[in-house]
Amino acid sequence: MGLMDGKVALIFGVANKNSIGWGITQRLHDEGATIALSYAGEALEKRVRPLAEQIGCDFVEPCDVTSDEQLDEVFAKVKERFGKIDVLVHAVAFANRDDLDGRFVDVTRDGFKLALDISAYSLIAMAKRAEPLMTEGGSIMSLTYYAAEKVMPKYHVMAVAKAALETITRYLANDLGPKGIRVNAISAGPIKTLAAAGVPGFRMMLKYTEKVSPLRRSVTQEDVGNTALYLA
Ligand code: NAP
Repeated sequence: MGLMDGKVALIFGVANKNSIGWGITQRLHDEGATIALSYAGEALEKRVRPLAEQIGCDFVEPCDVTSDEQLDEVFAKVKERFGKIDVLVHAVAFANRDDLDGRFVDVTRDGFKLALDISAYSLIAMAKRAEPLMTEGGSIMSLTYYAAEKVMPKYHVMAVAKAALETITRYLANDLGPKGIRVNAISAGPIKTLAAAGVPGFRMMLKYTEKVSPLRRSVTQEDVGNTALYLA
């Protein structure tokens, strides 16, 4: 018997085996959840499919989260296949490298729009589509970072996106709570992933965290997976 037996989890943002989304996927799958995966683009398919096969998942759908049509399509396919969603995981973020380097004051209008669209608005777009499928209540979660609260070197426009994501989380929780849908954000410490590699000075953040965090180590994919399981 697993804690997630009979539950369906739709997960956005698995790029490769290092992705936080993959850590969450594995933990939910270990506990018996049926997994549906969505990945960003064709380039990722060859990395995501083999991972999906490892857990016997054959629902693997592409979706660029800036496209309402593509989001509609993924949710329609989930409805057709499973009829419901119990858990929705948003593990998606993007900013142009140029907008993470240099000075914060130089962030461009287009770079701001892109980062906020992919990394924050997409949570609203997903929640709106998940709500009618969460017929037995549910759990929606995303990934945030402490740089939304305190200035961190080079986190820049992504910090603004995370601040938006956290506020979106509160407003969605208020909207969807009466239907038994919980909305939370997990603030993960730095973990070496593809997205993290785009943050200038990331290795320094990792080293510093290992020095000053209470356990004197960074969090792992497994730590985040366990937190996600609790929220699910
Ligand atoms: P990751 O493996 O690179 O995952 C990020 C995912 O976002 C990738 O699958 C990426 O696909 C996807 N994505 C980007 N643009 C997209 C789009 N337009 N449509 C759909 N998907 C898109 O990195 P990660 O670190 O696990 O990131 C997962 C989440 O954790 C993010 O929200 C990140 O900000 C957050 N987080 C990370 C850390 C950390 O230190 N790693 C700490 C706290 C929070 P592509 O590769 O194709 O762009």
